[in-house]
Formats: sequence, structure tokens, C-alpha cells
Amino acid sequence: MDSVMNSIYPWLQTQWAQWNKHVRPLGHAYLLSSPKGIGIEQFVARVLQKTLCHQPTTQGACLQCQGCRLQQGNQHPDFYHLTRLDDKKEINVEQVRTLVGKLNETSHQGGYKVIWIDEVELLNQSAFNALLKTLEEPAPNTLFLLTTSDVGRLPETIKSRCQQLNFPPPLLKEAVDWLQLALPQTDLKLIQRALRLNWGAPLDALAWIETKQFEEDAQWKEGLSQLQQGQKTASQVVALWLKWPNPVVVFDYFYLWSVSAVRSVVYATEQNVRLEQGVFLQNGLAFQQATLQAKQCWQGNANKELVLETLCLEWLEVQQSSEFFKSVFQSNYQKGMLS
Ligand SMILES: [Zn+2]
Repeated sequence: MDSVMNSIYPWLQTQWAQWNKHVRPLGHAYLLSSPKGIGIEQFVARVLQKTLCHQPTTQGACLQCQGCRLQQGNQHPDFYHLTRLDDKKEINVEQVRTLVGKLNETSHQGGYKVIWIDEVELLNQSAFNALLKTLEEPAPNTLFLLTTSDVGRLPETIKSRCQQLNFPPPLLKEAVDWLQLALPQTDLKLIQRALRLNWGAPLDALAWIETKQFEEDAQWKEGLSQLQQGQKTASQVVALWLKWPNPVVVFDYFYLWSVSAVRSVVYATEQNVRLEQGVFLQNGLAFQQATLQAKQCWQGNANKELVLETLCLEWLEVQQSSEFFKSVFQSNYQKGMLS
């Protein structure tokens, strides 16, 4: 047996073992809820392999039968993948109707049909209604797998039609161990930073390291230090960041900076927190809010350069000032001035 095909990330193993207790799925619809970047796609792939296999075991798919061979070539006719189209923000009702139409044809291989809807929270209202109808009148031997990283956006009616499986984020140690195995040459500190910047998601952290985004991280730090020392202006610093393929990550850098700044004050060993520290704590928290609001401005219609320059200057102010800090991003009026 090909162990790679049936292997699964360590943090998905508990759920996989539970799933494997049954040779056939118990229900017809499962809602898999997980944070982004932990590889839920792999779990879906394993469930799919096993369900379409003609002789599955409690270990997973046999990897030998016709069903398994069709899947290995990614051409199983009884598997349907519904996802957001590249240029769209939502999944529309036409997509759901087309899917339902195909489901009404008989199964090509005489077994299960498996439908995977990923980012199911992106269905619009009429798409949800169309899906709900299908879930309410399940055809035999049909398995729906719905995945989401934002379960709160799903209508109760959809949730109540599904069995829910929740996938918590991996433990930090588990993620670090896995990354060290995946990237044996990589420094532990870098692995830890990659995980922090990617909200503990191991696959995102892996991609962050593999695509050398730590170079951007270093450029961000260097830019701020040059700004602080008066060697560069905010607009010079920002101009470099804006050349990155995905400059919006700057807001995560600033956010995490503020988290550790606040932490350093909260966990300060001195018995009496001095006044300046009190101000710094307040300002760190205010800046943390400011990064989130600045990110929203950025994602809206604001002038991107101006948003980042303003945030840089606010960062500098928080470092240097002993006065209470008030971000321009906290007032809608001022936000308007940034656009
Ligand atoms: Zn098989």
C-alpha cells in the first residue's frame, strides 16, 4: 500500500482515525470547519479516496481498484468540486444548479457520488437556498463535504442539515515539529516567526518560508529602523513595501509588533509599572486597533500609499511619544480624508 496516499498531517489524525472507524460514511452531509492553512484539503482528499474506493478498509482507500486508479489520475467522474470562480467574490446559484443537474444523472461507477464545496460560506443567499433543497432531499449514495474557515457566516438551516466536524488549529509544538521535519535546514527562530505571522497555520508558515517572504519581513524591519533613525522618509520606506507581490501582509507585521509590544509591558518584571509604561501599554493597544482599521481602509478605496505612510508615522509616534496616542484610523471623518 502506498503510505503517502493515505498519510495525513499529524494535527488531522484524530479526526481521520474517527472517520476511519466506519468503512462507509454515516451521513450524507458533513460540514468541516477549520482555520485556514492547516490543510483541510488533505482530509477531504482522503475521505474522497476512501468513499470512491471499491474495497476500502479501516485504514483508508485500497489504492488498487478502478475507483482508486481513476482518482489518482484526477478523473473520477463521480467527484464534483464546487468552488468560487477566480474572478468572483461569491458562489452563485447557477453554479449550484449546474451541480444539482449533474447529480441527477446516475453514478458513473455505480457507487457514491462525492461533492466537495469549499469556502461554502461564500455561497450567496439564493445559492444557499438551492443547496438547502438538495440537502433536505438527499439522493442515496451521495456525500456532501462542505468546508469552511468561517462557520459563523453559514445559515443555521444549512448547519442543521450537516454533521459538523471541527478541526482546531494545531498545537504550537506540533506545528514546530512538523515544520522542522519539512525544512530541516531552517533555523528554529525563523520557523517560530513564520508560525506567528501565519496565525499558527503550518502550511501557510511553510509557504511563507519557501517563498522567502522572510526577506520581506527583514525589509520591513530595516525600513522601520531607517525611518526611526531619520535615514529614510515614510514614503521612501513604503515605496519599497509596495513592490512586494502581496503588500497587505505589512498590516500583519505591524499587528504582531503591537501584540509583542503590549506583551512586553504586561509581563514586565518590575513591581511598579512606571507611568511611561502605562502610556506605552495604552498606546500599544490603540496602535493594535489602528492596524486593523488601517487594513480595512487599505482593502477599501483608500489611497494605499497614504494609508501605509500614515501607519508608519503612527508607529513612530507610539515609539517616541510619552503622550496618549490617537490614531487617525479611529475616526471615520479622518478615514475619509485618506481616500
Ligand atoms: Zn480502492
